[in-house]
Amino acid sequence: MEEDVIEKYKKAGEIAKKIISLAKEIIKDGAKTLDVAEKLENEIIKLGGKPAWPMNLSINSIAAHWTPKINDETIFKKGDVVKVDVGVHVDGWIADTAKTFEIGTNNWKDLIKASEEAVNAAIDIAKPGVTISEIGSIVEETIRRYGFVPIANLSGHGLENYKTHVPPTIPNFNNKSNQKLEEGMAIAIEPFATNGIGKVIDAKESEIFKIEVPKPVRLQSARKILNYVLEEHQELPFCRRWLAKKIGGFGIEMGLRELNRIGALHNYSVLKEESDGIVSQAEHTILLLDTPIVTTKL
Ligand code: MN
Ligand code: MN
Repeated sequence: MEEDVIEKYKKAGEIAKKIISLAKEIIKDGAKTLDVAEKLENEIIKLGGKPAWPMNLSINSIAAHWTPKINDETIFKKGDVVKVDVGVHVDGWIADTAKTFEIGTNNWKDLIKASEEAVNAAIDIAKPGVTISEIGSIVEETIRRYGFVPIANLSGHGLENYKTHVPPTIPNFNNKSNQKLEEGMAIAIEPFATNGIGKVIDAKESEIFKIEVPKPVRLQSARKILNYVLEEHQELPFCRRWLAKKIGGFGIEMGLRELNRIGALHNYSVLKEESDGIVSQAEHTILLLDTPIVTTKL
């Protein structure tokens, strides 16, 4: 890994850490999810990074991919278990980190601890040469020790320039794979723990999209979206809120529909625990150098 790439990964990680700290301060009973998301996304830019995806604020049995819609009125409530999943990039080099906060109560302290200890245990053994099943085993064992279940169909992943999910897949259970972590990889390890059955399903279409296959498109509203997204985010995820802010609300739905029709667009689903279990998540980004660097660790 080149030195300037490492520096950019580190800078993204520094910013992401600050965003997690700010999230802890501003996520409270009565706060609007929309205000929190915008404040955190704006802070990333103030600190010299760019959001690598819309702020994910997934509550209770929602595990991932929830971000407020335009004019969203959803508020955080006492007792909510909130997964804040932050993506920051510097010239496309990404920091991916997540933390779970429980608002005003302490009912899910152990559930939150289970995923945090799982990611820490995984980080302790993560280095070039370790197999992905060794990572998965330690994640699963740690979560089960707390009496909870890892979510098997959510996993960690590799990161590359402007790419959020590349091989290897890092499982949250022992998948028996002999695939090894390799020197020079950047990876995100992200255990999810639940009191449910340990599986997520697609709940509904989310506010989050990405350009899957850039294709020429004639419809003006679609072209406007495509040009803005490719220019500003390349193939990283974006959301309706950002489109409304950057190119105006008019024609967004028509444009998205057209991009979808020609197969250029991917709309992420909101992922919900199948049995409505409460979900916690913890995540860090690690550069697998000779001595691994956890770019997002507080
Ligand atoms: Mn993440
Ligand atoms: Mn991730």
